[in-house]
Amino acid sequence: MNLILNNNDYHYALESLLRVFFPDVKINTVYDTTADSFSGDYALCDLQNNADKYILLIEFASGSFKKSKTKEFSVKEDLYKEGELYASQLLFLLLSECYNYSPKWGIQTGVRPTKIFFNLLRNNTREQAIEYLKNELFIDEKKCLLVQSVADNELDIINSSDKSRFSLYISIPFCPTRCSYCSFISHSYDSIKRLIPEYVRLLCEEIKAFSEIATQHKLALQTVYIGGGTPTILSIEHLDNIIKCIQEHFDLTELCEFTLEAGRPDTLDSEKLEYIKKSPITRLTVNAQTFKDETLVKIGRNHTSSDIYNAYKIARELGFDNINTDLIAGLPNEKVEDFIDSLNKTIALDAENITIHTLALKRSSFLITRDKVKGKTVAETEKMLDKAYEILLNNNYIPYYMYRQSKSIGNLENVGWAKKGKECKYNIFMMEEVQNVFGAGAGAVTRLIDSKSGKIFRIYNYKYPFEYISDFDEMINRKHLIENYLD
Ligand code: SF4
Repeated sequence: MNLILNNNDYHYALESLLRVFFPDVKINTVYDTTADSFSGDYALCDLQNNADKYILLIEFASGSFKKSKTKEFSVKEDLYKEGELYASQLLFLLLSECYNYSPKWGIQTGVRPTKIFFNLLRNNTREQAIEYLKNELFIDEKKCLLVQSVADNELDIINSSDKSRFSLYISIPFCPTRCSYCSFISHSYDSIKRLIPEYVRLLCEEIKAFSEIATQHKLALQTVYIGGGTPTILSIEHLDNIIKCIQEHFDLTELCEFTLEAGRPDTLDSEKLEYIKKSPITRLTVNAQTFKDETLVKIGRNHTSSDIYNAYKIARELGFDNINTDLIAGLPNEKVEDFIDSLNKTIALDAENITIHTLALKRSSFLITRDKVKGKTVAETEKMLDKAYEILLNNNYIPYYMYRQSKSIGNLENVGWAKKGKECKYNIFMMEEVQNVFGAGAGAVTRLIDSKSGKIFRIYNYKYPFEYISDFDEMINRKHLIENYLD
């Protein structure tokens, strides 16, 4: 499908919105209004200026039908921002009419809906901020309530941070096998195990480099998150190398949370869990995604529901009191009842955190087709989330952080739920971008809040373990960039 832009460059907003309606269609943005661009399906955004007025035209054509909408406006402050907003609104209304389908998040396609809400609150009352979400971004009433709840629930934790603190993220991008829906840069263990000793050695070097920066700038480590991938695919010896390195090089007196993302339950046995329990780790994730064995096979997870129960049983016997479990709504062939059954089983395990993800269609060809997305699957996934939220609230879980991924079914969200007092601080700091996060390992990102402008800057590590190892020195040399953003 062509996205044809004339006299404007609203490609990011309009492309993102087209993807909500057409998740598996390739969108080509063209700035060419000759006849060729109009052959086949297209969306046109044309902006014309007449004296102090601007006229926006959005036209959409697919197969034999063609529809358009126009809006005339005067610029209040910023032509780009206002034009982009109106163009998105027109396109949304047009597509909603054509397909009789209104995505719940309206024209909001970004990762962090709560951040938008917090930004609005800087210059608006709470009521005005909510009105804006509803009337300008076309966000559904229930989702507006969700945004408010999450924002309210995370506020104390946001306020517990200041610029003298930071978090450390450690990336272990290896998994036992690759799940069919995975969009993450993760490598199956067998294909990469020979690299792991060197990877762990260099990871420790990088952690040391961060510790020098932290010491120099008197930064206190507040949270650590070892994520993946499946970090517990590592041997006890390698996990111990990493954890000891953190203990040796950082002052941990202010550390209030240390998460280890086990991910796959089949990588946890008594020996490993005993080791983890004796380490400074305070929070564990045992990710189920679903308790339906048939689905687990279909999505290539290579474990069963009994592995989930087994990991929980051992962890509880050892005294773990903060476990997160991820579930995914919208997995192939799962009905609302299947998803709710998995949720009820997770609640029965007394999980302190439950993260509900919506399936993202990154590898849609394996799992789902466009017709399913536009039809039954979206409605079913919406029902799964609605029902799940009701059950979670009734069981005293609170929504405490959220984010959205592109190409998720129906443009729906991912929400972390927790029992009060068990919220994951790292997730909030990272998602709301309120704290510096140093990221170590392949694919990790260091996120820095510029001490002068307050803007967010990112320094990316090499994505793949091979490059991480081969170009490590060059990557370490880039660490000096961090100094530019710290006091
Ligand atoms: S466990 Fe997670 S990171 Fe690993 S392959 Fe599956 S989805 Fe990807």
